[in-house]
Amino acid sequence: MKIVEEKVLSYLDSKRDEIIDFLGKLVRIPSVVGEELEAQKFMYNVFRDMGLEVEMWEPDVDVLRRHPAFFETTSFKKYGYRNRPNVIGRFRGEGGGNSLFLCGHIDVVSPEPINAWSYPPWSGIVVDGKMYGRGAADQKGGIASMTYALKSILDLGIKLKGDVLIGTTIEEEDGGIGGALAVVLKGYRADAAILTEPGGSRIGVASAGVLYFRVKVMGRTAHASRAHLGVNAIEKACTVYRALMELNRERQKRIRYEYAENEAPHMKGRATTINVGVIRGGDWPSTVAGWTELECRIGWPPGESISDVKREVETTIMEASKEDSWLRDHPPKIEWFGWSAEPSEQDVNHPIVKLVKGTAEEVLGERVVFAGGSAGLDTRHFILYGGIPAITFGPEGENTHGIDEYVNLDSVIKTSKVLALTLLRWCGVT
Ligand SMILES: [Zn+2]
Repeated sequence: MKIVEEKVLSYLDSKRDEIIDFLGKLVRIPSVVGEELEAQKFMYNVFRDMGLEVEMWEPDVDVLRRHPAFFETTSFKKYGYRNRPNVIGRFRGEGGGNSLFLCGHIDVVSPEPINAWSYPPWSGIVVDGKMYGRGAADQKGGIASMTYALKSILDLGIKLKGDVLIGTTIEEEDGGIGGALAVVLKGYRADAAILTEPGGSRIGVASAGVLYFRVKVMGRTAHASRAHLGVNAIEKACTVYRALMELNRERQKRIRYEYAENEAPHMKGRATTINVGVIRGGDWPSTVAGWTELECRIGWPPGESISDVKREVETTIMEASKEDSWLRDHPPKIEWFGWSAEPSEQDVNHPIVKLVKGTAEEVLGERVVFAGGSAGLDTRHFILYGGIPAITFGPEGENTHGIDEYVNLDSVIKTSKVLALTLLRWCGVT
């Protein structure tokens, strides 16, 4: 076994330039959520050339709609699911081993404002051992790592006992309904799944609960010179805003979550957040604002369900309204829209978690910690709806979703080694 492992590790060292070249090609194919087709065609060819059985298919929205986790994502509303395929390759083992699903999301967030970047976001330029570009870290670096982890085993003619599934999915940045959820509903199963989100020496074991909501506040219009005859909806919306921020402070004091705090020192006490991200209201400077709406996101770590959180937000807004003479009689309307994700947590005592932790510590030469629970991840679809234990593990990078996103290339190779050893150890070698 030791000899096989050594072979795989030195194969990956020898392929360093090829892996970086592969990643550069992938970064240079823009795949902003909704426009994943070209990058998926590229991955289809890569998996096919590796000799895998490959399937490329578009999500069936009628099937998705019947699932309780379904919501209409922003990109679904804009593009639908035509020309947005998922790609899944299968390598059949000899039998008698555990199966593993390696999965990465192909979609990336918008690179805007492009002019603010030091290097063009679709360049994949390499400077000081880092590759820059939108998606370089989140998570095309991880896709390069997992692709070459499996490729090393295939190229060396090593026979595994268990099956390997390897896939690239759409729409993770937008909720993964047409991506990971569609994959699970299509019936793909494995004994464990590793999603190659960036992380370096952190293994992601939790996905946050996430809800979007809109609060509509009505006022009464009047001419600005007779504002005392009207009721300004912007002012009334501020009452709602303050109540939400008070709830946020109180929840942050009450709700602590170790894995979220492990993500970064500044995450201490911030495992849950309420953000008011959009405000719209009024029509005209000379008219007292007759309406205002706030659009908000609440995120929280495992421990509360969607219905618990909805109840708390609704109660908070209604209680605050009772203390205002206008809002008491004209209560705000709350609408839940878009993102609606239950939180999920992977038991860290599961053998796949222990194996990846041990293997990562061996390859990286440093302590690996468990993290997660502040952002919604595709792992929840695998865990909650597929019954597949799932974690995230991927290369180290910075500025994901920001300007000058980069991935550390040493880390891409190391991650590939961790994943290759994990495949050998988890699936078994004949
Ligand atoms: Zn990601």
